[in-house]
Amino acid sequence: MQKNHIVELEITDMGVGGEGIGKADGLTFFVKDAIIGDTIRARITKLKKTYGYARVEELVKPSDLRCEPRCPQHRRCGGCQIQAMAPDAQLRFKQEKVRGNLIRLGGFAADFIDRVMEPIVGMDEPYRYRNKAQFPIGTDREGKPVAGFYAARTHSIIPVTDCLLGVEENRTILEMVLDYMRENDISAYDETTGKGLMRHVLIRYGFTTKEIMVALVINGRKLPAQDALVERLCMLPGMKSISININQENTNVILGQETTCIWGEPYITDYIHLRDCSDDRFAQTDTAVAFQISPQSFYQVNPVQTEKLYSLALEYAGLTGTESVWDLYCGIGTISLFLAQKAGRVYGVEIVPQAIEDAKRNAVLNGITNAQFFVGKAEEVLPEFYENNTGDMSHPDVIVVDPPRKGCDQACLDTMLKMQPERIVYVSCDSATLARDLRILCDGGYELKRVRPVDQFCHTVHVEVACCLQRMNL
Ligand code: SAH
Repeated sequence: MQKNHIVELEITDMGVGGEGIGKADGLTFFVKDAIIGDTIRARITKLKKTYGYARVEELVKPSDLRCEPRCPQHRRCGGCQIQAMAPDAQLRFKQEKVRGNLIRLGGFAADFIDRVMEPIVGMDEPYRYRNKAQFPIGTDREGKPVAGFYAARTHSIIPVTDCLLGVEENRTILEMVLDYMRENDISAYDETTGKGLMRHVLIRYGFTTKEIMVALVINGRKLPAQDALVERLCMLPGMKSISININQENTNVILGQETTCIWGEPYITDYIHLRDCSDDRFAQTDTAVAFQISPQSFYQVNPVQTEKLYSLALEYAGLTGTESVWDLYCGIGTISLFLAQKAGRVYGVEIVPQAIEDAKRNAVLNGITNAQFFVGKAEEVLPEFYENNTGDMSHPDVIVVDPPRKGCDQACLDTMLKMQPERIVYVSCDSATLARDLRILCDGGYELKRVRPVDQFCHTVHVEVACCLQRMNL
């Protein structure tokens, strides 16, 4: 067996990245785009002592879990790793991924996890759900500007202006930007040389208000013939905000630090409704909070599933109206403002200053006066308040955390344990770091009570999880 040889594989498992796993001659092979239950012929692309990588050459017998993917580009694109899996099979894969991580990485007993874990919350219509898109701009072989997405594991751009996870408006906007670039000789940014102007187009769409925001990320300080572009974009129904974001660094990070609004308002508005978690259908309730969102602020990308996720988080917080609550990694205050409606006082912490400005404005917008927001790292702000012995801020009743993929910093977890809240609600977008952090919290005197995954990122391998922990009475 060697590189470029063909092997026949039965795919018996799937890795956390969505790759199919099969065995031949005692070697384990990882195969992109193969799914559990497939029998395939695959070409070996890399071979190590005990494992290798291979590429599907022929689908000998397709798995029962397959469905017809709607996007013709799904295999070339790095975005949807499991679009060829039927929706209910995707949900089972994600439920199992979270369960497996909690057991293997968190060291929880399997029967315990099976008792506390509830079934993943899926989505009825898992396409066109994203409210945000960031298209890279590049150049094709003829030197013409193109917009699209990066091919899996590379930075070469495949020209596609209509991603089926995004809204249809994206395509019109991208075509306007490309037309403007062609007509005005605007260059596309080239990562290898660091030259060229247009880097990315960021589009946000408020699902409840139909408001649109466009931010053009440029490698320069000015956009030549800016009016020619603005004139077109501002005619689109729903257009509310057009900005320029300056990013002159040679980096993979999409947005730079500086944003200037060149037309309309510097934000769009969207509403999030609370849903009824006791109902399996998560029926929408009348309680809603309005949010103004700036280009640089974090805002959950799947508005339908976000409502279910936040409603679960709120239910797990078990508030009665008097509690003091910390909301760590609060972004623009989305969870905080729902908490504030049911708690005595809420304190939010977030590292991005623009997001905290949004959070403060959002509190005012909704007439909420019992929420306070602080800019800084959770692992620095929380210990400061704890050490200064600031009343209910040092000893909150509930702490909610919703960290980025890398999870919570040790100093943050240590302080949470010292503060001894009655309950901790952990919202996570990476079940591996979640498992690690839950182990620390449970070793520190908390018991895991409820775990529920929510499919926020249909067709990708990513999954969001809400958890509830209760302080043990010793
Ligand atoms: N709860 C919010 C945001 C969750 S995303 C919502 O649902 O919308 C995670 C947030 O954590 C981002 O806004 C990010 O900017 C912020 N963040 C990242 N590292 C942080 C840190 N060390 N301390 C505080 N906030 C941080």
